[in-house]
Amino acid sequence: MTLTSQKAKVHPCDSRRPKPEASSRSTVVDVKTAGQVDKPTKRRNLEREEIDTFSHVASGVLGRVRLVRTNLLPPAADGMTVGRFVFLRGDRIHDRSSTLLAHELVHVRQFAELGAVKFFMVYLGSYFSNLVRLRNHRQAYLAIPLEVEARREADEWKKRRAQDADAADDGSADGH
Ligand SMILES: [Zn+2]
Repeated sequence: MTLTSQKAKVHPCDSRRPKPEASSRSTVVDVKTAGQVDKPTKRRNLEREEIDTFSHVASGVLGRVRLVRTNLLPPAADGMTVGRFVFLRGDRIHDRSSTLLAHELVHVRQFAELGAVKFFMVYLGSYFSNLVRLRNHRQAYLAIPLEVEARREADEWKKRRAQDADAADDGSADGH
């Protein structure tokens, strides 16, 4: 964005002459950019590009999603969803195409479909009945149908994405 706007302002005839005005302007831009990088993102909505990327969940649902950076998660978890809020550990809030986020976004849709009360009832109900049956926390968690569905949809999304990337590579190879 910065490059394009600077390019547009420099006329070809002026390019050999030093331009103090242009260099001081670019310094200001650099300082601003550095300031933004230093300040970590705490909360954000999904960007338009991400709403297109995560096409396995309806855009109406994705438009309401709020990502929240936090380290207050169970030790084994890097992400957790409550309603439209997706809590992500550390720098994962910057990863715009992760399978983790694809998985959590399925949970956002499940919350929207079931409502929070029913989501927790179904989720915890399956967990505890699995725990009685399997006698193992991790296996009980993995067997929760809402988790099975989120894993399956995120995996399918990942496969489609890899196929699309392959197709795009083939396309550009043909073009050259
Ligand atoms: Zn999950």
